[in-house]
Amino acid sequence: MIKPMKMKFYGLRHIDQIPQLHQLTEEERFDIKVVSNVLPFRTNNYVVEQLINWENIPDDPMFQLTFMQKGMLDKKHFNKMADALKRNASNDEIKKIANEIRFDLNPHPAGQMTANVPIFEDEPVQGVQHKYKETCLVFPSAGQTCHAYCTFCFRWAQFVGMNDLKFATDESKRFQDYLRNHKEITDVLFTGGDPMVMTLQKLEAYIEPLLRPEFDHIRNIRIGTKSVAYWPYKYVTDDESDGVLRLFEKVIKAGKHLAIMGHYNHWVELSTPVAKEAVKRIRNTGAEIRTQSPLIKHVNDDPDVWAKMWKAQVKLGLVPYYMFVERDTGASSYFAMPLSRAFDIYRKAYIQVSGLQRTVRGPSMSATPGKVAVEGIATINGEKVFVLNFLQGRNPEWVKRPFFAKYDEKSNWLDQLTPAFGNDSFFYEDELNEILEKKAEEFEAA
Ligand SMILES: *Cc1c(COP(=O)(O)O)cnc(C)c1O
Ligand code: SF4
Repeated sequence: MIKPMKMKFYGLRHIDQIPQLHQLTEEERFDIKVVSNVLPFRTNNYVVEQLINWENIPDDPMFQLTFMQKGMLDKKHFNKMADALKRNASNDEIKKIANEIRFDLNPHPAGQMTANVPIFEDEPVQGVQHKYKETCLVFPSAGQTCHAYCTFCFRWAQFVGMNDLKFATDESKRFQDYLRNHKEITDVLFTGGDPMVMTLQKLEAYIEPLLRPEFDHIRNIRIGTKSVAYWPYKYVTDDESDGVLRLFEKVIKAGKHLAIMGHYNHWVELSTPVAKEAVKRIRNTGAEIRTQSPLIKHVNDDPDVWAKMWKAQVKLGLVPYYMFVERDTGASSYFAMPLSRAFDIYRKAYIQVSGLQRTVRGPSMSATPGKVAVEGIATINGEKVFVLNFLQGRNPEWVKRPFFAKYDEKSNWLDQLTPAFGNDSFFYEDELNEILEKKAEEFEAA
């Protein structure tokens, strides 16, 4: 039997109240506060008490994943905030300094603001992104927070209020109207933040309408969530846990596929009794759990960690799905790693596991033209190259057409790569520019 846990959140104001943190020196705690004044900090009692190994800090991966580290800001930024806190600057001044630093940290990577938001009846559909033909993302407004924040999060800007939840939608008709009128959409992916922070009532309001006959073309409902890792009690002992599982069953009974897109960064997140129980209960409803994670320095930059994680996942019936490359935003200089290293880790993990774990694809960059994976490193006619491949493309025709970039050890994103074999551009670039221009025009008009 799993003992219930009452949820307790810790934010910036509670840093001194976390008992385990008192094994750090006052100065080390101060460092955490400095960075947490810039990047969003939030954790909870489950993460602190059951996932972090306090005998192994600061190196413990779960500690690195949820607690800010001094190195996440460069010296100049760090000192500016540290100085303001030391001289007890006013809240307004601290906020101002925080925002200045945030603007230096590329708060809005990959132009998601306009290029992915669809227009319907001459108006943008708020809270919806439709980039790949079959799959539509929906960002419920009540699901734009998480049970704990990952220090590397590429959506960090929304948690510090930098985009006023422009991505979010309420449960009203508009996103439904859009889906009803787009029969090519087979998959709806609820995402955030974390939609599973919502109350059962809210969750039902988003999901149940999609079970009606008018949405027969929506075959797959997906929920992107970190809750199974950060707050598994949601499915086990929370007041609404049975209701959540009943809702999942209802989706299955309606003949849809329900995929929980579980965000896992480390095998530790699957190691506690309550985490395993949550997985079992979700799977018993008929839902599948597929897993994804970025590669993150200080957290999982080790092939053995990935191999062990994928094995633990398959053992529990989860399906490894994506390995992502960390995006260029926030504290990325602390977390990011070059594509060459990312591929090396992927390959060294992949060769350790059986075919059942090899459902995982990557390392993949969610870049402007699409999801681009590094498939290999090769030497062709004497030139060392990255072999790249679209797993998803803004134009589906781009998928599975290998293309080549000059190998270089340091690049960590698609836009830093140069075409190989003396070519001026990658095969998709002209078409991409056309698509983006057309999108921008539509937006202007709306
Ligand atoms: C990853 C992603 C999807 C889902 O792609 P699948 O390969 O079907 O899992 C949909 N939309 C966007 C914008 C994405 O980044
Ligand atoms: S769970 Fe996902 S959205 Fe939430 S903080 Fe972590 S990476 Fe960001």
